[in-house]
Amino acid sequence: MLPVIALVGRPNVGKSTLFNRLTKSRDALVANYAGLTRDRKYGEAEIEGHKVILVDTGGISGDEEGIDEAMAQQSLQAIDEADVVLFLVDCRDGLTPADEMIADQLRTRSKPTLLVANKVDGVNPDIALAPFYELGIGELLPTTATHGRGVRALMERVVKDLPEPVEPEIADEAKGIKIAIVGRPNVGKSTLVNRLLGEDRVVVYDEPGTTRDSVYINYERDDKPYTLIDTAGIRRRKNIRESVEKFSIVKTLQAVEDANVVVLVIDAREGLVDQDLHLMGSVIQAGRALVVALNKWDGLEDDHRQYVKTELERRLRFVDFADIHFISALHGTGVGHLYESIESAYQSATDKLSTNHLTRILQWAVSEHQPPLVHGHRIKLRYAHAGGQNPPVIVIHGNQTEQVPAHYVRYLEKTFRKALDLHGTPVKIELRSGS
Ligand code: GDP
Ligand code: GDP
Repeated sequence: MLPVIALVGRPNVGKSTLFNRLTKSRDALVANYAGLTRDRKYGEAEIEGHKVILVDTGGISGDEEGIDEAMAQQSLQAIDEADVVLFLVDCRDGLTPADEMIADQLRTRSKPTLLVANKVDGVNPDIALAPFYELGIGELLPTTATHGRGVRALMERVVKDLPEPVEPEIADEAKGIKIAIVGRPNVGKSTLVNRLLGEDRVVVYDEPGTTRDSVYINYERDDKPYTLIDTAGIRRRKNIRESVEKFSIVKTLQAVEDANVVVLVIDAREGLVDQDLHLMGSVIQAGRALVVALNKWDGLEDDHRQYVKTELERRLRFVDFADIHFISALHGTGVGHLYESIESAYQSATDKLSTNHLTRILQWAVSEHQPPLVHGHRIKLRYAHAGGQNPPVIVIHGNQTEQVPAHYVRYLEKTFRKALDLHGTPVKIELRSGS
């Protein structure tokens, strides 16, 4: 499970500046998928060699009303789910009443908290930092988020508070493909989980230990092992009446990261909404194989079905590699067929790719369509090799590769995808100069 870091602070202190700085390096994959929308409040970052989930929270001063109150609820939930809280304040403004209110909220939650004194540029730190000690919250670390000054020291400090990675409790081969069922509240995740596990051909083992709130369910179907990551937590409810657990974006992102294949459930009755697209963006950012399940397909009028299909075609062009299934988790229609896509996506995501084969495809791609000239010199792409699985990473070596434009990277990606017959998984192209 990825550790979670929450950024907290009143508006304008520099939370999103820090967020963007920390998540930027993870955007490389996303750049290949034009049209992808992501939730700017949730992102993945790599700090000092640790992958983490970063949450940029909104207000939590305690006096929010209406929609702000709902946002504050989400923020408090994010804080509860965080391993470390970074409380940002603004050195230029000094200590404000809003900072004090946030500090009050944080004090009641006793989370490891670091106080980040941002915008320390252009002020005298000895004078500017002094008032913040009054808050009596965690260690004080000065930063300039816009230029990155102090950020490295902050991150070195943050990793000390991160939990040790927990060793998996069952051997990998017994787990089989790890499948995460994700989606917004009420799309039918729990119904689908029960349906998948309730099939005649399925043998469910004793539920292994739980990590956080997602439940890992180990089972066999047609003598093949699988592990289902149940973000809805249905199997934990003692009875059907017990209230539905709070939907958690953090929990969802952790499950996505930990899965091999993600089944994203969308409610056909409601159609595609922004949150579906955000979740899809997170799946691609994590590089996970993806199967889309359009649920509640039962009892829909023909013209509604046609409308939903048209919408999908229009808005999901950027994930045209993913299979889409029209299912009814309630009646079981189409549910078994999900496995065909799960298996083929997993195969594609974990195929062994030989240097020879990849290099031949690269040479063919270049001969069909040359890279552009840069200052009168042709960019040279020489050879390719595999750099990782799930997602497949194709590393291409050449000259001036930093000049290769995004559209050409997309062309390469498409060509590799086609030549290697890869389905259901994002493909990451990495360009390197020199040998
Ligand atoms: P948020 O509302 O907390 O997310 O704050 P933003 O990240 O949007 O930053 C608010 C403003 O402060 C923007 O104009 C940033 O460019 C600026 N800012 C952020 N960090 C720094 C900093 O370290 N120094 C200075 N001088 N400005 C900063
Ligand atoms: P979750 O919050 O994503 O876990 O969603 P649930 O599985 O709890 O389902 C939410 C509601 O949608 C429940 O009332 C289900 O009975 C209903 N539902 C789930 N799947 C289907 C389906 O395929 N068709 C129809 N008509 N209703 C469904």
